[in-house]
Amino acid sequence: MHRRHFLSLTGLTALSSWGQLPPPEALKLISVTDGVKLLEGAGGNVAVVTTAEGTILIDAKFAPNVPQIYDAAKSLSSKPIRFLVNTHHHGDHTGGNAALAAKEPMEILAHENARANMIKGGMPGVPRIGFKDSITIGLGGVELRAIYLGRGHTNGDVVILFPQKRLLHAGDLIAAPGPFIDYANGGSGIEWVATLDKVLALDFDTVIPGHGPLYTKADLKTFRDKLDGMVRKMTELKRKGLSKEDAVKAFDPASLGWEPGRMFNRTLPPLYDEVAR
Ligand SMILES: [Zn+2]
Repeated sequence: MHRRHFLSLTGLTALSSWGQLPPPEALKLISVTDGVKLLEGAGGNVAVVTTAEGTILIDAKFAPNVPQIYDAAKSLSSKPIRFLVNTHHHGDHTGGNAALAAKEPMEILAHENARANMIKGGMPGVPRIGFKDSITIGLGGVELRAIYLGRGHTNGDVVILFPQKRLLHAGDLIAAPGPFIDYANGGSGIEWVATLDKVLALDFDTVIPGHGPLYTKADLKTFRDKLDGMVRKMTELKRKGLSKEDAVKAFDPASLGWEPGRMFNRTLPPLYDEVAR
C-alpha cells in the first residue's frame, strides 16, 4: 500500500508533518518460524531475521516506527543489523530506511526500478545497492534470495525467498484488502497475474504478505485467481462496449471478497485503459 492510503485510512490526511502525529501505534511481534519474526501494524510487514552473524530486516515501515523496529530487533539479537532489503519503493516499506541506517551501518538493497522510483519521487533513504534479476545474501548460515519476477503492484517489486525456512516475503504483490496497481510507477494488472504465476513456481510454504496476517501458498494462489478474475472481468466489460465510467461502476470488488473503495478507485480506471490496449 502507498503511504497516502495509510494516512487516509487513519484519518490523518489533514496533518502536514510527522511532528504533529500521535506516537505510532504499538506493533505486534509475531513468530513466523525459527529465527524469523514479523512486525505487524503501521505500514508494511517487517520481517526480522536473526542469524549468528547479524540481523537482516525486510522492509522498514515509516520513519516514526524506526525506534520500535530497532528495539524489537535488538530484543531478539544483540548482533548488528547487517542488511535491509526493501520489497519495493513505497513509503510504508522504505520510510524507515534512513533512520535505521543512521542507527547502524547496514547495507540497504532494492530492485533497480524501486531505487529509480525513489530517486524520481525525491524519497529519502535511497538504497545504496540496486539489483536487476536477483541477489543472494548468506549471513550466519541463513540464505535468502531477493528475486524480481516482473511487473505487478509497481515495476520494482521483489519477493524474498528463504529456501531453508520454506518462507517467502511477498511485499505488496500480496495485499489482503485487495490489489492496488501503482500505474504511475510501472504497475500492471495483466503482468501482475503472470508475475504471481512465477512466484507460485518457487518452493515455499509460508508467505509474509505486504500487509496483514500470514498466508499459506494456497492463499497466495487464491489471491492470484481473484486478481485474474478482476482483470478478466474488466476485459469482458470493455469488450461488451461499456465506457470506462460504466465498467468501473459495474465491477464490484466485494464479488471477489475485497473491500470496495480505497485503492480500487485508483486502480480500476487505469486497469480499464490497460485491458483496452
Ligand atoms: Zn506498496
